Amino acid sequence: MVEGSARGRRTGLAMSRLLVRDLAQVTTPAGVAAPLRGAMLGEVHVVEEAFVLCGEGRIEAVGRMRDLPALDGDVEELDGRGRCAIPGLVDCHTHACFAGDRVEEFSLRAAGASYEELHAAGGGILATVCATRAAGEAGLRASVERHRGWMLAQGTTTFEAKSGYGLDRDTELASLRAIAATGGVPTWLGAHAVPPEFDSADDYLDFALGEVLPEAARIAEAADVFLERGAFDAAQACRYLEACAAAGLALRLHGDQFTEAGAIPLAIELGARSVDHLEATGAAGVAALAASDVVGVLLPASSLFLGRPMPLARALVEAGAAVALATDFNPGSAFCESLPLVCSLACTQLGMSPAQALSACTVNAAHVLGRAGRKGRLAPGYDADLVLLDAPDWRYLAYHLGGPVVAEVIVGGERAR
Ligand SMILES: [Zn+2]
Repeated sequence: MVEGSARGRRTGLAMSRLLVRDLAQVTTPAGVAAPLRGAMLGEVHVVEEAFVLCGEGRIEAVGRMRDLPALDGDVEELDGRGRCAIPGLVDCHTHACFAGDRVEEFSLRAAGASYEELHAAGGGILATVCATRAAGEAGLRASVERHRGWMLAQGTTTFEAKSGYGLDRDTELASLRAIAATGGVPTWLGAHAVPPEFDSADDYLDFALGEVLPEAARIAEAADVFLERGAFDAAQACRYLEACAAAGLALRLHGDQFTEAGAIPLAIELGARSVDHLEATGAAGVAALAASDVVGVLLPASSLFLGRPMPLARALVEAGAAVALATDFNPGSAFCESLPLVCSLACTQLGMSPAQALSACTVNAAHVLGRAGRKGRLAPGYDADLVLLDAPDWRYLAYHLGGPVVAEVIVGGERAR
């Protein structure tokens, strides 16, 4: 979760090593490639009666207890009996930087209010924009810190978070700084919505690209756009993303959430890392995505939360698309920070296997964040980010629906909770 910061604490001159021993299982996505797709997406490597040895913030070794060598020096031991180790979970799509909440809107929707009634009651993205603009940078940092703690408790050791609730220069930049300061991977969602002080999406983009992008590109790693009817159309999204790419940012898109508006062709044309949502994607979109290098990020918690159709995950997987899973944690449409719950939804609602779900929210999510090779696997040389499940079988990750499945989280070789 805290990129690198867990490596800061040292014991004496050398960092201590951590041995997690007597684990029921150690499970990791197979292979070395990223992203995984096709049959490889469902391939995991399981070692029974196993240990994980961490040192210098990295994984030194994984193996069977009977093969554990004698260890010299300062080694902290952690009893893994009755537990399973999996890689630290990677949440590659969150909106964790916001102030206030939308619990009133949630209650009204639960009571059957229409979209128009919610809007009249002051709901929607712009309600969160007002609260976020009023929070100040310290307030935003405290907010992301709080949300980061929730995610860590659910086993998320690396998280992405987007700006997009400021939509003015100061709040967008403060949001990105708050995300970076709390260890998140910052994405500039400058094109989330058109704020009320602008008459048109084009006028707003003139401002955002001219006044915000130059500084945002110094802090963020990627740019994202909400390509949807009523937000930004394909031509506007293309203009925004091309400018962001020229400024050095990786590209992401919110696409096909409610309507197919050209997100997949645009993502492929521009070489985007991912196109996220895909609830409205049809057969042609599935085939195009499967034939490309763009990852489809599936967000079933948002479908569940809004009572909307689930994305066609099984069709995507069977067509050979690279898919990732994420929470979409945000105050309006998915107030859910739990990747274990998302894995449960993947298995019960999306037709994915536990192994496919695990790969989708570890190694494939790490690929979306440009961190494949460091994050998302339990293998020598990878960052020592682990989740210990309170379970005799790693598949409890998805099986224990909404339960307290996460027993312990290790970040950079140190116990984080
Ligand atoms: Zn989103």
